[in-house]
Amino acid sequence: MTNLDLLIDEAKKICILGHINPDGDCIGSTLGLYNYIKNKYDDKFVRVYLEKASDKFNILEGFKEISQDLNDAIDFDLCIVCDCGSEERIKDFAIYLKRAKKIMIIDHHETNNIKCENIILDKNAPATSELVYKNIDKKYIDKKVAECLYVGIAHDTGVFRYSNTNKNTLIIVSELIDKGINFSELLDITMFKQKFNQKVITANIINRAKFLCKGKVLFSWTNKEEVNSLSLDNRDIDMVVGYMRETIGIDIAVFAYEIGVNIYKISLRSNGEKINCADFSKKYGGGGHKKAAGFTLKMSIEEIEKFLSENISEIFNE
Ligand code: 5GP
Ligand code: MN
Repeated sequence: MTNLDLLIDEAKKICILGHINPDGDCIGSTLGLYNYIKNKYDDKFVRVYLEKASDKFNILEGFKEISQDLNDAIDFDLCIVCDCGSEERIKDFAIYLKRAKKIMIIDHHETNNIKCENIILDKNAPATSELVYKNIDKKYIDKKVAECLYVGIAHDTGVFRYSNTNKNTLIIVSELIDKGINFSELLDITMFKQKFNQKVITANIINRAKFLCKGKVLFSWTNKEEVNSLSLDNRDIDMVVGYMRETIGIDIAVFAYEIGVNIYKISLRSNGEKINCADFSKKYGGGGHKKAAGFTLKMSIEEIEKFLSENISEIFNE
């Protein structure tokens, strides 16, 4: 039995948390674990709390049961936090973490700074969903669990293209496929198929993109006005920065999107092994991974462009 299984075994009431603005790996790892616990035990109370995520993940079992309730009067025996490297990023649901008798963290972020007795932290793991797979009893991995973990791994590896993908990842993926999942439909629905207006906004963002730092950085942005005018929300633009990165000749793509009046979330994606987006983001209050990281700036777009022009070159020397 793994430490994770031992803790689950001892607990009656379990909550599972992830990070704000949940992405595919966050949803895949939390729901994978949720479905696993439900498969293995009849007598446990288990609930996932996450911010409202994109409806495209509706295809995963348990998605509809994800709670946003902040007033549950439940004292959990165990709180499992997946794919989250810092307490601030658990945000409002941290109330359940604080009240829980025991805590378990499962994560792969380079900038993880959570101190916890029970922690599965592998900064080289391509996805938290892979760490969940490795730490659960394979007997209870059915099609529903496999679908969640497959989606999680696929999202954090850019469908097994990013350099974080390794032989073991592909072995795990082949074992998940063996459970009879429709991997092609899962990828199409959760990654590739978009609303027409998502394509329109991507085109707009690319059209206004600028090269900074002698062409090494590709920068672009959107704001609430544009997102709203196309009947979209910020969950609909999460793929744009990855698309920007796939530009010949650039080292980094930087994408800014508005989350409040003159408050922008900055997403970074880098090419090559030398540049560390996590270190740069950490310096400005954020974090993440070497090749994918983010932080928040309270500035106008003009100021952000100036900030990047003045500061981003340091990322090449780190
Ligand atoms: P994204 O650009 O997709 O929002 O995030 C890329 C990666 O960086 C994800 O792993 C995400 O968890 C992490 N990340 C993004 N923004 C922040 C932030 O403000 N703080 C921390 N600690 N991590 C972040
Ligand atoms: Mn992840």
